[in-house]
Amino acid sequence: MVSFEEARTTILAHVQPLGVERVHVLEAVGRVLAEDMAAAWDMPRWDNAAMDGYAVRAEDCTSIPCCLRVTGFLPAGAKADGLTVEPGCAIRIMTGAPVPCGCDAIVPVEDTDNGAQEVTLLQPVKKGRHFRFQGEDVVAGMTYARSGTIIRAPDIHLLATFGMALVPVYRRPVVAIITTGDELVELGNVPGPGEIINSNTLSLAAAIKEAGGIPRIIGIARDNPESHRKLLTEGLKADVLITSAGVSAGDHDFVRDVLEELGTRQIFWKVAMKPGGPTTFAMHGSTPVFCLPGNPVSTLITFEEFARPALLRMQGYRMVHRPLFKTVLRNEIRKKPGKVQIARVCLKREEGRWYASLASKRESALDETMADAMAYAVLPADATCFKAGDEVDVHFHGNHIDLV
Ligand code: AMP
Ligand code: MG
Repeated sequence: MVSFEEARTTILAHVQPLGVERVHVLEAVGRVLAEDMAAAWDMPRWDNAAMDGYAVRAEDCTSIPCCLRVTGFLPAGAKADGLTVEPGCAIRIMTGAPVPCGCDAIVPVEDTDNGAQEVTLLQPVKKGRHFRFQGEDVVAGMTYARSGTIIRAPDIHLLATFGMALVPVYRRPVVAIITTGDELVELGNVPGPGEIINSNTLSLAAAIKEAGGIPRIIGIARDNPESHRKLLTEGLKADVLITSAGVSAGDHDFVRDVLEELGTRQIFWKVAMKPGGPTTFAMHGSTPVFCLPGNPVSTLITFEEFARPALLRMQGYRMVHRPLFKTVLRNEIRKKPGKVQIARVCLKREEGRWYASLASKRESALDETMADAMAYAVLPADATCFKAGDEVDVHFHGNHIDLV
Protein backbone atom coordinates (compact mmCIF):
# COMPACT_ATOMS: atom_id res chain seq x y z
CA MET A 1 0.00 0.00 0.00
CA VAL A 2 1.33 3.45 -0.92
CA SER A 3 0.28 6.84 0.39
CA PHE A 4 -1.92 9.09 -1.73
CA GLU A 5 0.92 11.56 -2.31
CA GLU A 6 3.43 8.79 -3.09
CA ALA A 7 1.01 7.29 -5.61
CA ARG A 8 0.68 10.62 -7.44
CA THR A 9 4.43 11.27 -7.51
CA THR A 10 5.22 7.71 -8.61
CA ILE A 11 2.77 7.92 -11.52
CA LEU A 12 4.23 11.19 -12.79
CA ALA A 13 7.75 9.76 -12.54
CA HIS A 14 6.67 7.09 -15.06
CA VAL A 15 5.15 9.28 -17.77
CA GLN A 16 6.55 11.86 -20.15
CA PRO A 17 5.23 13.98 -22.99
CA LEU A 18 4.31 11.99 -26.10
CA GLY A 19 5.65 12.90 -29.52
CA VAL A 20 4.94 16.09 -31.41
CA GLU A 21 2.42 16.58 -34.20
CA ARG A 22 1.56 19.57 -36.35
CA VAL A 23 -2.07 20.62 -36.25
CA HIS A 24 -4.08 23.46 -37.74
CA VAL A 25 -3.81 26.55 -35.58
CA LEU A 26 -7.43 26.26 -34.45
CA GLU A 27 -6.94 22.63 -33.43
CA ALA A 28 -4.06 23.84 -31.27
CA VAL A 29 -6.25 25.66 -28.75
CA GLY A 30 -5.87 24.10 -25.29
CA ARG A 31 -2.90 22.05 -26.47
CA VAL A 32 0.70 22.55 -25.38
CA LEU A 33 3.20 24.18 -27.73
CA ALA A 34 6.12 21.81 -28.35
CA GLU A 35 8.70 24.25 -29.79
CA ASP A 36 9.76 27.86 -29.23
CA MET A 37 8.26 30.08 -31.92
CA ALA A 38 10.49 32.70 -33.56
CA ALA A 39 8.91 35.61 -35.43
CA ALA A 40 9.17 35.19 -39.20
CA TRP A 41 9.10 38.96 -39.68
CA ASP A 42 8.91 42.27 -37.83
CA MET A 43 5.64 43.31 -36.27
CA PRO A 44 4.40 45.82 -37.33
CA ARG A 45 5.85 44.92 -40.72
CA TRP A 46 6.15 48.59 -41.76
CA ASP A 47 5.89 52.03 -40.17
CA ASN A 48 2.18 52.74 -40.18
CA ALA A 49 -0.49 55.11 -38.93
CA ALA A 50 -2.03 54.43 -35.52
CA MET A 51 -5.03 56.69 -36.25
CA ASP A 52 -7.24 57.75 -39.15
CA GLY A 53 -6.05 61.26 -40.07
CA TYR A 54 -3.38 63.10 -42.02
CA ALA A 55 0.32 62.38 -42.51
CA VAL A 56 2.16 65.70 -42.05
CA ARG A 57 5.59 67.27 -41.49
CA ALA A 58 5.65 68.59 -37.90
CA GLU A 59 7.80 71.57 -38.96
CA ASP A 60 4.95 72.80 -41.23
CA CYS A 61 2.54 72.95 -38.31
CA THR A 62 4.23 75.11 -35.71
CA SER A 63 1.44 77.73 -35.62
CA ILE A 64 -2.10 76.52 -34.99
CA PRO A 65 -4.54 76.62 -36.73
CA CYS A 66 -2.58 75.72 -39.83
CA CYS A 67 -3.78 74.91 -43.31
CA LEU A 68 -2.20 72.22 -45.53
CA ARG A 69 -2.93 71.06 -49.10
CA VAL A 70 -4.12 67.42 -49.26
CA THR A 71 -2.16 65.67 -52.02
CA GLY A 72 -3.05 62.00 -51.64
CA PHE A 73 -4.98 59.25 -49.88
CA LEU A 74 -3.61 56.08 -48.25
CA PRO A 75 -6.25 53.59 -47.09
CA ALA A 76 -5.25 50.43 -45.12
CA GLY A 77 -3.83 47.89 -47.55
CA ALA A 78 -2.44 50.58 -49.88
CA LYS A 79 1.23 50.79 -50.82
CA ALA A 80 3.08 54.03 -50.02
CA ASP A 81 5.47 53.59 -52.98
CA GLY A 82 6.40 56.95 -54.46
CA LEU A 83 4.10 58.97 -52.19
CA THR A 84 5.85 61.81 -50.39
CA VAL A 85 4.49 64.52 -48.12
CA GLU A 86 5.87 67.72 -49.68
CA PRO A 87 6.38 70.90 -47.61
CA GLY A 88 3.05 72.57 -46.82
CA CYS A 89 1.11 69.41 -47.76
CA ALA A 90 -0.64 66.49 -46.05
CA ILE A 91 -1.70 63.01 -47.17
CA ARG A 92 -4.94 61.62 -45.87
CA ILE A 93 -4.19 58.27 -44.20
CA MET A 94 -6.19 55.47 -42.54
CA THR A 95 -5.16 53.35 -39.52
CA GLY A 96 -2.65 50.64 -40.50
CA ALA A 97 -1.69 52.22 -43.83
CA PRO A 98 2.06 52.62 -44.46
CA VAL A 99 3.31 56.12 -43.70
CA PRO A 100 4.56 57.97 -46.80
CA CYS A 101 8.01 59.51 -47.14
CA GLY A 102 8.67 62.94 -45.75
CA CYS A 103 6.14 62.89 -42.91
CA ASP A 104 6.99 62.60 -39.22
CA ALA A 105 3.60 62.82 -37.53
CA ILE A 106 0.02 61.62 -37.97
CA VAL A 107 -2.68 64.09 -37.00
CA PRO A 108 -5.92 62.35 -35.96
CA VAL A 109 -8.93 63.39 -38.00
CA GLU A 110 -10.58 64.56 -34.76
CA ASP A 111 -7.90 67.29 -34.46
CA THR A 112 -8.72 68.72 -37.92
CA ASP A 113 -11.63 70.09 -39.92
CA ASN A 114 -11.61 66.81 -41.92
CA GLY A 115 -10.99 68.70 -45.18
CA ALA A 116 -10.70 66.90 -48.53
CA GLN A 117 -8.69 69.33 -50.76
CA GLU A 118 -7.29 71.36 -47.93
CA VAL A 119 -7.16 70.53 -44.23
CA THR A 120 -6.97 72.82 -41.22
CA LEU A 121 -5.18 71.46 -38.17
CA LEU A 122 -6.76 72.60 -34.91
CA GLN A 123 -4.35 71.14 -32.34
CA PRO A 124 -0.57 71.39 -31.94
CA VAL A 125 1.38 68.63 -33.71
CA LYS A 126 4.10 66.55 -32.06
CA LYS A 127 6.84 64.80 -34.02
CA GLY A 128 6.45 61.00 -34.04
CA ARG A 129 2.85 61.13 -32.78
CA HIS A 130 0.49 58.29 -33.77
CA PHE A 131 3.21 56.41 -35.60
CA ARG A 132 3.55 52.64 -35.16
CA PHE A 133 7.13 51.79 -36.01
CA GLN A 134 8.30 48.66 -37.82
CA GLY A 135 9.37 45.98 -35.31
CA GLU A 136 8.01 48.01 -32.37
CA ASP A 137 6.08 45.01 -30.98
CA VAL A 138 8.19 42.08 -32.16
CA VAL A 139 11.46 42.04 -34.09
CA ALA A 140 12.02 39.27 -36.67
CA GLY A 141 13.69 36.26 -35.02
CA MET A 142 12.40 37.10 -31.53
CA THR A 143 10.73 34.28 -29.55
CA TYR A 144 7.08 35.21 -29.21
CA ALA A 145 5.80 31.94 -27.70
CA ARG A 146 7.73 29.40 -25.66
CA SER A 147 7.58 25.63 -25.75
CA GLY A 148 5.32 24.52 -22.88
CA THR A 149 2.77 27.31 -23.39
CA ILE A 150 -0.84 26.18 -23.11
CA ILE A 151 -2.27 27.68 -26.26
CA ARG A 152 -5.10 30.17 -25.75
CA ALA A 153 -6.74 32.83 -27.92
CA PRO A 154 -3.92 35.42 -27.54
CA ASP A 155 -1.37 32.77 -28.60
CA ILE A 156 -3.54 31.85 -31.58
CA HIS A 157 -3.45 35.54 -32.54
CA LEU A 158 0.37 35.55 -32.45
CA LEU A 159 0.70 32.23 -34.29
CA ALA A 160 -1.66 33.45 -37.01
CA THR A 161 0.07 36.84 -37.17
CA PHE A 162 3.36 35.13 -37.96
CA GLY A 163 1.81 32.86 -40.56
CA MET A 164 1.80 29.60 -38.57
CA ALA A 165 -1.05 27.63 -40.16
CA LEU A 166 0.32 24.40 -38.67
CA VAL A 167 1.45 24.46 -35.07
CA PRO A 168 3.74 21.92 -33.33
CA VAL A 169 1.96 20.55 -30.24
CA TYR A 170 2.27 17.45 -28.11
CA ARG A 171 0.14 14.56 -29.24
CA ARG A 172 -3.06 13.64 -27.39
CA PRO A 173 -2.89 10.17 -25.83
CA VAL A 174 -5.18 7.44 -27.11
CA VAL A 175 -6.63 5.91 -23.96
CA ALA A 176 -8.05 2.37 -24.06
CA ILE A 177 -10.96 1.70 -21.73
CA ILE A 178 -11.84 -1.79 -20.51
CA THR A 179 -14.53 -2.45 -17.97
CA THR A 180 -14.87 -5.82 -16.31
CA GLY A 181 -17.74 -7.82 -14.90
CA ASP A 182 -20.35 -10.40 -15.84
CA GLU A 183 -23.06 -8.11 -14.50
CA LEU A 184 -22.52 -5.43 -17.16
CA VAL A 185 -24.74 -4.77 -20.16
CA GLU A 186 -24.13 -2.01 -22.69
CA LEU A 187 -26.20 1.15 -22.84
CA GLY A 188 -29.19 0.54 -25.09
CA ASN A 189 -30.19 -2.71 -23.36
CA VAL A 190 -32.71 -2.99 -20.57
CA PRO A 191 -30.81 -4.49 -17.63
CA GLY A 192 -32.22 -7.83 -16.47
CA PRO A 193 -32.09 -9.16 -12.91
CA GLY A 194 -28.59 -8.72 -11.46
CA GLU A 195 -27.44 -6.67 -14.45
CA ILE A 196 -26.27 -3.07 -14.53
CA ILE A 197 -25.53 -0.77 -17.40
CA ASN A 198 -21.85 -0.31 -18.17
CA SER A 199 -21.83 3.36 -17.22
CA ASN A 200 -18.15 3.44 -16.26
CA THR A 201 -17.05 3.09 -19.87
CA LEU A 202 -18.95 6.23 -20.77
CA SER A 203 -18.08 8.28 -17.70
CA LEU A 204 -14.42 7.38 -18.18
CA ALA A 205 -14.58 8.23 -21.88
CA ALA A 206 -16.09 11.59 -20.94
CA ALA A 207 -13.42 12.26 -18.32
CA ILE A 208 -10.69 11.28 -20.80
CA LYS A 209 -12.10 13.71 -23.36
CA GLU A 210 -12.26 16.47 -20.75
CA ALA A 211 -8.59 15.80 -19.99
CA GLY A 212 -7.68 16.11 -23.70
CA GLY A 213 -7.25 12.37 -24.35
CA ILE A 214 -8.81 10.30 -27.12
CA PRO A 215 -10.92 7.51 -25.62
CA ARG A 216 -10.82 4.11 -27.30
CA ILE A 217 -13.52 1.84 -25.95
CA ILE A 218 -12.31 -1.76 -26.05
CA GLY A 219 -15.31 -3.36 -24.36
CA ILE A 220 -16.29 -5.51 -21.40
CA ALA A 221 -13.93 -8.20 -20.12
CA ARG A 222 -16.08 -10.97 -18.69
CA ASP A 223 -15.21 -12.57 -15.39
CA ASN A 224 -12.85 -15.23 -16.78
CA PRO A 225 -9.12 -15.07 -17.61
CA GLU A 226 -9.59 -15.73 -21.37
CA SER A 227 -11.87 -12.76 -21.86
CA HIS A 228 -9.48 -10.56 -19.85
CA ARG A 229 -6.52 -11.81 -21.89
CA LYS A 230 -8.21 -10.95 -25.18
CA LEU A 231 -9.32 -7.44 -24.21
CA LEU A 232 -6.25 -6.46 -22.18
CA THR A 233 -3.98 -7.51 -25.07
CA GLU A 234 -5.92 -5.16 -27.32
CA GLY A 235 -6.00 -2.38 -24.71
CA LEU A 236 -2.24 -2.46 -24.24
CA LYS A 237 -1.79 -1.26 -27.83
CA ALA A 238 -3.01 2.23 -26.87
CA ASP A 239 -0.88 5.01 -25.32
CA VAL A 240 -2.59 4.45 -21.96
CA LEU A 241 -4.82 1.66 -20.65
CA ILE A 242 -7.52 2.25 -18.05
CA THR A 243 -9.56 -0.59 -16.59
CA SER A 244 -12.46 -0.42 -14.19
CA ALA A 245 -13.33 -2.98 -11.49
CA GLY A 246 -11.84 -6.40 -10.82
CA VAL A 247 -8.83 -5.11 -8.85
CA SER A 248 -9.97 -5.97 -5.34
CA ALA A 249 -9.30 -9.36 -3.84
CA GLY A 250 -12.59 -10.87 -5.01
CA ASP A 251 -12.92 -14.31 -6.63
CA HIS A 252 -13.51 -12.76 -10.01
CA ASP A 253 -10.82 -10.11 -9.89
CA PHE A 254 -8.54 -11.15 -12.75
CA VAL A 255 -7.19 -7.84 -13.96
CA ARG A 256 -3.88 -7.75 -12.08
CA ASP A 257 -3.01 -11.43 -12.68
CA VAL A 258 -3.71 -11.33 -16.40
CA LEU A 259 -1.84 -8.04 -16.81
CA GLU A 260 1.18 -9.64 -15.16
CA GLU A 261 0.90 -12.65 -17.45
CA LEU A 262 0.94 -10.21 -20.40
CA GLY A 263 4.26 -8.74 -19.26
CA THR A 264 3.00 -5.75 -17.31
CA ARG A 265 5.05 -4.59 -14.33
CA GLN A 266 2.96 -3.65 -11.30
CA ILE A 267 4.24 -0.41 -9.74
CA PHE A 268 1.77 -0.29 -6.86
CA TRP A 269 -1.43 -1.95 -5.71
CA LYS A 270 -3.61 -0.24 -3.12
CA VAL A 271 -3.45 3.38 -2.07
CA ALA A 272 -4.09 4.65 1.46
CA MET A 273 -7.18 6.59 0.45
CA LYS A 274 -10.95 6.45 0.57
CA PRO A 275 -12.64 5.90 -1.78
CA GLY A 276 -10.29 4.33 -4.31
CA GLY A 277 -8.27 1.99 -2.06
CA PRO A 278 -7.70 -0.87 -4.57
CA THR A 279 -6.27 1.42 -7.29
CA THR A 280 -3.40 -0.24 -9.15
CA PHE A 281 -0.75 1.33 -11.34
CA ALA A 282 1.40 -0.68 -13.73
CA MET A 283 3.66 -0.17 -16.72
CA HIS A 284 3.72 -2.22 -19.89
CA GLY A 285 6.91 -1.05 -21.57
CA SER A 286 6.30 2.69 -21.71
CA THR A 287 2.50 2.34 -21.56
CA PRO A 288 0.98 3.36 -18.23
CA VAL A 289 -1.85 1.15 -17.01
CA PHE A 290 -4.37 2.40 -14.47
CA CYS A 291 -6.61 -0.22 -12.87
CA LEU A 292 -9.35 1.70 -11.14
CA PRO A 293 -11.96 0.34 -8.75
CA GLY A 294 -15.38 -0.42 -10.26
CA ASN A 295 -17.63 1.55 -7.97
CA PRO A 296 -18.58 4.46 -10.24
CA VAL A 297 -17.70 7.14 -7.68
CA SER A 298 -14.34 5.51 -6.94
CA THR A 299 -13.69 5.19 -10.67
CA LEU A 300 -14.17 8.89 -11.30
CA ILE A 301 -12.33 10.07 -8.20
CA THR A 302 -9.31 7.88 -8.92
CA PHE A 303 -9.36 8.93 -12.57
CA GLU A 304 -9.34 12.56 -11.45
CA GLU A 305 -6.55 12.18 -8.89
CA PHE A 306 -4.28 9.70 -10.73
CA ALA A 307 -5.03 9.30 -14.43
CA ARG A 308 -5.87 12.91 -15.33
CA PRO A 309 -2.50 14.33 -14.20
CA ALA A 310 -0.72 11.61 -16.20
CA LEU A 311 -2.76 12.35 -19.34
CA LEU A 312 -1.97 16.04 -19.00
CA ARG A 313 1.75 15.38 -18.51
CA MET A 314 1.73 13.20 -21.65
CA GLN A 315 0.30 16.20 -23.52
CA GLY A 316 3.14 18.41 -22.30
CA TYR A 317 1.40 20.16 -19.40
CA ARG A 318 3.74 21.11 -16.57
CA MET A 319 1.13 21.98 -13.93
CA VAL A 320 -0.99 18.87 -13.88
CA HIS A 321 -2.69 19.03 -10.51
CA ARG A 322 -5.64 21.28 -9.97
CA PRO A 323 -4.85 24.08 -7.56
CA LEU A 324 -6.04 23.59 -3.98
CA PHE A 325 -7.72 26.39 -2.14
CA LYS A 326 -9.03 26.86 1.37
CA THR A 327 -12.72 26.67 2.17
CA VAL A 328 -14.72 26.73 5.36
CA LEU A 329 -16.42 23.43 6.09
CA ARG A 330 -20.14 23.49 6.85
CA ASN A 331 -20.48 19.93 8.16
CA GLU A 332 -18.65 17.81 10.66
CA ILE A 333 -16.58 14.99 9.17
CA ARG A 334 -15.10 12.10 11.15
CA LYS A 335 -12.63 9.75 9.56
CA LYS A 336 -10.20 7.02 10.48
CA PRO A 337 -6.54 8.02 10.53
CA GLY A 338 -4.08 6.63 7.99
CA LYS A 339 -5.97 7.31 4.76
CA VAL A 340 -6.56 10.41 2.71
CA GLN A 341 -10.27 10.92 2.25
CA ILE A 342 -11.68 12.58 -0.83
CA ALA A 343 -15.07 14.07 0.01
CA ARG A 344 -17.42 15.41 -2.61
CA VAL A 345 -18.50 18.93 -1.73
CA CYS A 346 -20.68 21.71 -3.07
CA LEU A 347 -19.24 25.20 -2.84
CA LYS A 348 -20.84 28.53 -2.14
CA ARG A 349 -19.26 31.94 -1.83
CA GLU A 350 -20.61 34.19 0.89
CA GLU A 351 -19.19 37.49 2.07
CA GLY A 352 -15.90 36.88 0.34
CA ARG A 353 -15.31 33.34 1.63
CA TRP A 354 -15.85 29.94 0.07
CA TYR A 355 -17.95 27.45 2.03
CA ALA A 356 -17.94 23.71 1.38
CA SER A 357 -20.89 21.45 2.21
CA LEU A 358 -20.70 17.69 1.97
CA ALA A 359 -22.56 16.50 -1.12
CA SER A 360 -23.05 12.99 0.21
CA LYS A 361 -22.75 11.36 3.60
CA ARG A 362 -21.93 8.01 2.01
CA GLU A 363 -18.36 7.68 0.86
CA SER A 364 -18.63 5.90 -2.44
CA ALA A 365 -22.33 5.82 -3.14
CA LEU A 366 -23.46 6.57 -6.63
CA ASP A 367 -26.20 9.12 -6.56
CA GLU A 368 -26.97 12.44 -8.10
CA THR A 369 -24.59 14.09 -5.64
CA MET A 370 -21.68 13.04 -7.81
CA ALA A 371 -22.94 15.35 -10.49
CA ASP A 372 -23.96 18.08 -8.00
CA ALA A 373 -20.62 18.16 -6.25
CA MET A 374 -18.44 20.66 -7.96
CA ALA A 375 -15.31 20.10 -5.89
CA TYR A 376 -13.41 17.50 -3.93
CA ALA A 377 -12.17 18.17 -0.41
CA VAL A 378 -8.86 16.45 0.20
CA LEU A 379 -8.76 15.43 3.85
CA PRO A 380 -5.22 14.56 5.01
CA ALA A 381 -4.39 11.03 6.14
CA ASP A 382 -3.46 11.90 9.73
CA ALA A 383 -6.60 13.95 10.49
CA THR A 384 -9.55 12.30 12.21
CA CYS A 385 -12.09 15.01 12.86
CA PHE A 386 -13.18 18.17 11.12
CA LYS A 387 -15.69 20.44 12.76
CA ALA A 388 -18.04 22.85 11.05
CA GLY A 389 -16.04 26.07 10.65
CA ASP A 390 -12.70 24.28 10.13
CA GLU A 391 -10.70 25.05 7.00
CA VAL A 392 -10.27 22.31 4.40
CA ASP A 393 -8.44 22.19 1.06
CA VAL A 394 -10.60 21.63 -2.01
CA HIS A 395 -10.14 21.56 -5.74
CA PHE A 396 -12.68 21.87 -8.50
CA HIS A 397 -13.00 18.63 -10.40
CA GLY A 398 -14.69 19.96 -13.48
CA ASN A 399 -14.35 22.92 -15.75
CA HIS A 400 -16.13 25.33 -13.43
CA ILE A 401 -14.19 28.24 -14.79
CA ASP A 402 -17.05 30.62 -14.04
CA LEU A 403 -16.60 29.91 -10.34
CA VAL A 404 -12.87 30.47 -10.04
P1 AMP B 1 -15.98 -4.79 -8.52
O1 AMP B 1 -14.69 -4.04 -8.40
O2 AMP B 1 -16.02 -5.68 -9.71
O3 AMP B 1 -16.29 -5.50 -7.26
O4 AMP B 1 -17.14 -3.70 -8.73
C1 AMP B 1 -17.49 -2.79 -7.70
C2 AMP B 1 -18.86 -2.20 -7.92
O5 AMP B 1 -18.85 -1.35 -9.05
C3 AMP B 1 -19.94 -3.22 -8.20
O6 AMP B 1 -21.10 -2.88 -7.44
C4 AMP B 1 -20.23 -3.11 -9.65
O7 AMP B 1 -21.53 -3.42 -9.99
C5 AMP B 1 -19.91 -1.67 -9.95
N1 AMP B 1 -19.40 -1.58 -11.32
C6 AMP B 1 -18.38 -2.32 -11.80
N2 AMP B 1 -18.16 -2.05 -13.09
C7 AMP B 1 -19.06 -1.09 -13.45
C8 AMP B 1 -19.33 -0.43 -14.67
N3 AMP B 1 -18.61 -0.67 -15.77
N4 AMP B 1 -20.31 0.49 -14.70
C9 AMP B 1 -21.02 0.74 -13.58
N5 AMP B 1 -20.81 0.13 -12.39
C10 AMP B 1 -19.85 -0.79 -12.32
MG1 MG C 1 -16.49 -7.26 -10.78
